[in-house]
Amino acid sequence: MLCEFDAHQSKAVCYCFKLIAFSPVVCQDFKLCETFFMSEHLQQIKTFYEEAFQNLDGKRGIPEIEVKFYPYIGINHTIRVRNGKVFVRLAEVCLDMPLNAQKALACILVSKLLNKKIPQKTSETYRDFIKNQKLREKVRENKRAKGRKIITTAKGEVYDLDEIFNHLNYLYFENKIAKPTLTWSARKTYRILGHHDSTHETIAVSRSLDDKKTPKYVVEFVVFHEMLHIFHPTQPRNGRHYNHTPQFRRDEKQFAHFDKAENWIGRNVKNLKRKAKSKK
Ligand SMILES: [Zn+2]
Repeated sequence: MLCEFDAHQSKAVCYCFKLIAFSPVVCQDFKLCETFFMSEHLQQIKTFYEEAFQNLDGKRGIPEIEVKFYPYIGINHTIRVRNGKVFVRLAEVCLDMPLNAQKALACILVSKLLNKKIPQKTSETYRDFIKNQKLREKVRENKRAKGRKIITTAKGEVYDLDEIFNHLNYLYFENKIAKPTLTWSARKTYRILGHHDSTHETIAVSRSLDDKKTPKYVVEFVVFHEMLHIFHPTQPRNGRHYNHTPQFRRDEKQFAHFDKAENWIGRNVKNLKRKAKSKK
């Protein structure tokens, strides 16, 4: 059974360490990664909010806007202002919503925020999508899944990811990386040792590494690698997207125990695999 964390993997994960144990070349897999698709999709949606502000209250100018999908259980969306910046959180079930409905929703949320009347045509466009049968089913499935959600945590049996993050942030990033949600994976995965999910700003580390036999520098290396994904966002170029850019790889080597950590992962992957199979 998939936990919520695993269920998101198909959407926006980096398969960073997937092949690292077998070969140092890890980039081929990135066509599987939809992180790039998400960032473009969000950019597009963001323009709808900018247009809505322009149309509804052009005099005030367009504020800074941040749009994210959020794993709300139902069809909830929120819009709020903090320090002049507008934060929009859209229900994840609406990820595949057609763009005309996204545009209508932008108009609805901005109208509500500014206390303006919502045009009837706009309401109808959005409501047509919400009535959609498939979407209803998704929401029902979400509600069912809620009851069996596995709660994960940053504090493992041996290592505390929060502590590791803070230490690395201080040591390598001048504390400039905003802390994402840090969590040990619910299951002991062995092929994917870490991932960064930019949709939910989450770094997850395989629970198989939360073990006295795993040197701390290995856990640190996995967290460090994922932090670099925040530091170096996905680069679109010529219609392709690059996560592990040369700059990324250069910075990765700055990690004090880079060689040792890579070697350890290479040598221990069989152990990790056995453990994952024995304790599902
Ligand atoms: Zn990676």
